[in-house]
Amino acid sequence: MNIKYYNLSNFETIPQIKKLTNEQINAIKVVGNVLPFKINNYVIDELINWSNIPNDAIFQLVFPQKEMLTKENYEIVEKALNSDISKEKLRTIINEIRFKLNPHPAGQKNDNIPEIEGVKLTGVQHKYNQTVLFFPNHGQTCHAYCTFCFRWPQFIGIDELKFASRETELLVKYIKKNDQITDVLFTGGDPMVMSAKRLEAYINPLLEADLPNLKTIRIGSKSLAYWPYKYTDDKDSDDILKLFKKIVDKGIHLSFMAHFNHPTEMSTDVVKKAIKNILETGAQIRTQSPIMKHINDNPIIWENMWKEQVKLGMIPYYMFIARDTSAQEYFAVTLEDSLEIYNKAYKNISGIVRTVRGPSMSAAPGKVQLLGINEINGEKVFMLKFLQARNTDWLEKPFCAKYDPDAIWLDDLKPAFNKKNFIFDENEFISQADVKKIIEDKIIYN
Ligand SMILES: *Cc1c(COP(=O)(O)O)cnc(C)c1O
Ligand code: SF4
Repeated sequence: MNIKYYNLSNFETIPQIKKLTNEQINAIKVVGNVLPFKINNYVIDELINWSNIPNDAIFQLVFPQKEMLTKENYEIVEKALNSDISKEKLRTIINEIRFKLNPHPAGQKNDNIPEIEGVKLTGVQHKYNQTVLFFPNHGQTCHAYCTFCFRWPQFIGIDELKFASRETELLVKYIKKNDQITDVLFTGGDPMVMSAKRLEAYINPLLEADLPNLKTIRIGSKSLAYWPYKYTDDKDSDDILKLFKKIVDKGIHLSFMAHFNHPTEMSTDVVKKAIKNILETGAQIRTQSPIMKHINDNPIIWENMWKEQVKLGMIPYYMFIARDTSAQEYFAVTLEDSLEIYNKAYKNISGIVRTVRGPSMSAAPGKVQLLGINEINGEKVFMLKFLQARNTDWLEKPFCAKYDPDAIWLDDLKPAFNKKNFIFDENEFISQADVKKIIEDKIIYN
């Protein structure tokens, strides 16, 4: 099976596109000019149910929808596309709209970029003590693009917004110097778009350096959902699996962090075989997904997804709340509804499946889990807790926010009990302890 990509330039050649109305095709063109759009033959032929368009979850997951842009922005782009303005002018108009869509939520771009020997590790992010994120330069694309993606600026060629790195060597030095680091998390885009050879070029230096503090290599990837042939039929599938085994044999835990948004993505024979092949290398597969309207805002979906994951040998890990970027309004599920969906699904799964944690917001101060809604001294509150925090002291204290049925993100919340600040507000600007740590570690937070 060879991968065939479709994007704005050729999607009208997809045979199934005949099932769409002219209005839907026009919407793909308009929205696809602003947000990333790329699909492949596997997603089209095996995952999308074309008799259920436009409601099909996978169709919503990969095909741009009209309502993903505000009415105003949609009209601006539509008008620009239908006029005879120059390409540059068109690009300027589109980029202006992109910048309005909060391309780097939670300070993704400038925060947490470490430095070593006076050189910025531009493809590395170090926010939580134990784990560094690594964005290999060749892994900054995906086998298809999700319409909700918060990494979208990387795919649309606004160069200054990209994270990337060819600097494995510096990464190795950095891990050596910072012995609190136990995990390297390869992310992207999708690192599994790389050939076995390329991936090996990034992994080998880490293995050869014999770093005693490095316990886990994680690879964050959507490839099991979008291109499972990577682990079954591709010409370097065997080499990929051998590389995984090599990591495991070296005594390092390999955790494949699989992004699955819907049970359909686990339904084909080829994905089941791919999962089996990965597990046979000794790697483990953990799963995570955001919760999104039009795609998976239903407890049955989550219950089935988690149960099926465990049945196939995977470990449910995180349920995320969709970030405040891109088409968030279209996909946003309120905090209250996310919690209700999480709880309804959670009630129907055994303890083995309850390794999942959520609903969680990956925000600037850390990953914040919504634990529940409660009434304390007559005040209705959200109970929250840090799962990861920029300041690890915050992990110790659950905290409360005023109940707000419309809240969709941490920024919408106000402290409960008439308090002025959350603990993390008071520390929003770097504390003295952090400053000391920064000087010691030579980590620079912009
Ligand atoms: C989510 C995240 C991690 C990994 O966190 P875990 O809780 O260990 O999975 C690491 N760094 C950043 C910046 C993150 O957002
Ligand atoms: S696979 Fe991940 S990085 Fe790629 S488009 Fe989807 S959410 Fe974004």
